[in-house]
Amino acid sequence: MKMLTKTKIYICIVGLLILNTFTAFAAELSLYGLESGIRQGDVALVKIESDLAIDSISGQFDGRELVFQDDGLGQTALIGAAMNMEPGDYQLVLTALADGQDIRENYMVEVTARDYRVERLSLPEKMVTPDKGKIARIIREANSLKKVKKMLTPERFWDGEFVRPADGLFADNFGVRRILNGIEKKPHSGNDLKAYAGTPVKSPNGGTVVYVDKMYYGGKTVVVDHGHGLSTLYMHLSKILVNHGERVEKGEVIGLVGSTGRSTGPHLHWGAYLGGINVDPASLLSLSFDVMPPAEGLAAAVSVEDEVGQGETLGGN
Ligand SMILES: [Zn+2]
Repeated sequence: MKMLTKTKIYICIVGLLILNTFTAFAAELSLYGLESGIRQGDVALVKIESDLAIDSISGQFDGRELVFQDDGLGQTALIGAAMNMEPGDYQLVLTALADGQDIRENYMVEVTARDYRVERLSLPEKMVTPDKGKIARIIREANSLKKVKKMLTPERFWDGEFVRPADGLFADNFGVRRILNGIEKKPHSGNDLKAYAGTPVKSPNGGTVVYVDKMYYGGKTVVVDHGHGLSTLYMHLSKILVNHGERVEKGEVIGLVGSTGRSTGPHLHWGAYLGGINVDPASLLSLSFDVMPPAEGLAAAVSVEDEVGQGETLGGN
C-alpha cells in the first residue's frame, strides 16, 4: 500500500515534468491542410501561420523540399506524396526564421493508401516493343524529360486555383498497373482525359513552356513549369500552339487534343511533377484555396529545437 502511493507520486511528478517540457517548447508555427493526411500520389496545399513574423521558412517531406511563399493566404506550399510511398506516418520538418529566432518543428503526416487498379491491354506488338532503331531516340527523350521533371525554379508562376486543362472525362487511371500483352509495364504516370480530337488544351495555371517535342511514345508533347518544383505535362496533342520559353497564363490554350505517339485514340495524357516525382494532376484541381479552417492545425509531434535534423516511366500514354 505504501509502495503504491510512492509510485503514484512518482508518476505525478514525471507527468508534471513532461507537461512543463512541452509548455517550454510550445509550437510557434501552426500547419493547416494535412489534418486528414495525404493520399499516395496526391498533391496538397499547406499553409503555415504564426504569431511571429516569419522571415523565411522551408520544409522537407520524405526527402523532398517544400517551397513556401507568402501569398496573402499566409505561407503556402505544395506537398506531394509519391505514388509508391508505403502508407503510414512520415515526418514533415519545418525550419523557420521568425522574429530573429530559429524554429524547427516536426509533424507526423499520414500517407493513406490509394487503390490502384490493374488494367490488361492487348495492343499490336509493334506498339509495345519498339524497333531497335528507335531505342536511342526513346532513351534520349526520356532523359530530357527527366531533366524537366527535376527542375526547381525559385520563382512561382502559379497563383490560386488550378483549372481543368480540357473538357472531357477523367479516366482516373493515375498509378494504374498496366499489363500489356501479358507483360507488366511501369504504372501509368498521369491521368488521362477522354476528349474529342481538336479539343483545346489549356494551361491549368500560370507558367513557362519548358519542353516542346514530338516524342516517340508521347507524340506531340508540351511541359509547363509552374515554378517551385511543379510542372505539368501534355501528350498526344494533334497540334502544339506554344513555343519553348513562352510564358503562359492560366487558361491559355497551349495545344489541341490528338492521338499522336503511342495512343489508341484521341485523349489527353495529363501528367504532373512535383519535387521530381509523379503526382496525380487531377489532385491539383481539388486544392482548397478557401480561407483555411480556424480549427486546430496539425499538432507538432515533437518539439525539435534541441534536435539535429536530418523514377519512373517515360510518359506512357
Ligand atoms: Zn496516359
